[in-house]
Amino acid sequence: MKKRILLLAGGQSGEHEVSLMSARSVLAALPRDQFDVTPVVISKQGRWLPPTDTARALESGVSVQGGDLVLHRAASAEGYDAVFPLLHGPMGEDGTIQGLLTLAGIPFVGSAVLGSAVSMDKVMTKQVLASAGVPQVAWALALRHEWRNTPDLVRVRAANLGFPLFVKPANLGSSVGISKVNSAADLNAALDLAFGLDRRVILEAMTSFKPREVEVGILGNDTPIASPVGELQFDADFYDYDTKYTEGRATMHIPAPLPEVVAQRVRDIALTAFRALDCAGLARIDFFYVQETGELLLNEVNTMPGFTTTSMYPKLFEAAGISYSELVTRLVGLALEKR
Ligand code: ATP
Ligand code: MG
Ligand code: MG
Ligand code: MG
Repeated sequence: MKKRILLLAGGQSGEHEVSLMSARSVLAALPRDQFDVTPVVISKQGRWLPPTDTARALESGVSVQGGDLVLHRAASAEGYDAVFPLLHGPMGEDGTIQGLLTLAGIPFVGSAVLGSAVSMDKVMTKQVLASAGVPQVAWALALRHEWRNTPDLVRVRAANLGFPLFVKPANLGSSVGISKVNSAADLNAALDLAFGLDRRVILEAMTSFKPREVEVGILGNDTPIASPVGELQFDADFYDYDTKYTEGRATMHIPAPLPEVVAQRVRDIALTAFRALDCAGLARIDFFYVQETGELLLNEVNTMPGFTTTSMYPKLFEAAGISYSELVTRLVGLALEKR
């Protein structure tokens, strides 16, 4: 019997379009002799689009209006063996949709509520990983109400970290809302931007030198494996949205040209982090390697990483001998596996 798969794409976050790109690739790659796949695009307004509008959104790659309320449609998700929630950012990668599917009793690809929610929030991630002994940059949390009512307190917290520093919405991805702040004078604009997107903002010390950026993929549930390590090289101040998604702006090197001991440390720390955060299925874990000092710092964990055929996560496993379509097949298998 073919497995019936509901593929969810789009979603309400700033990464809606990125998700549509990923979903097109997954839709094409799930082997049709094993799976019956129904895609449903979730609009930016959070409504589940009917088949014709879903097809239109996937084809054009842009958001479409209309659709049904999420709770109304979730009940009809019952006819599926598994859901592939290929959604990035809030209302998708953060435990919300995972909670809905858990209540509905439908298995799904990726981390459950706990792993998704904690990994989405960069502050919670840093706290959990600090207690697991994972090396990270210095950081501080700021809340929107603090920025509104006691902005000087927030400025002091930033100044204590030193400049340049990074200001990020705690729950987002694709570098949306992230600024590198070179001096106190630039702080207001960066905080206004980040607080426009999240009520929780993380301030992060910059690594001591411009870091090398290395990433590793994790695959599995309770006995996960790590991929080879990849490195991103780009000609920009940092890895911002345009550099990520403009063709030709960044180059992926797999395997990363790193000493084997460093690559092995990346894999070991990533597996520790995956377990500490109770992740499942998949994650792409991003690191900074400061070549000048030899420091290796975990930057963040993505529980539903970019998933086009040219994205880092599937490329890393391709280098390990797991093809794209084998990878998505395995992920569905992991969703159906009882833990
Ligand atoms: P993703 O698309 O991978 O989910 P994201 O939006 O969650 O990304 P981060 O990975 O946290 O964002 O940061 C984006 C980029 O900003 C990094 O790849 C790096 O180039 C730069 N950056 C972020 N934090 C720091 C830091 N503390 N020191 C140096 N560079 C940083
Ligand atoms: Mg991220
Ligand atoms: Mg992300
Ligand atoms: Mg990242």
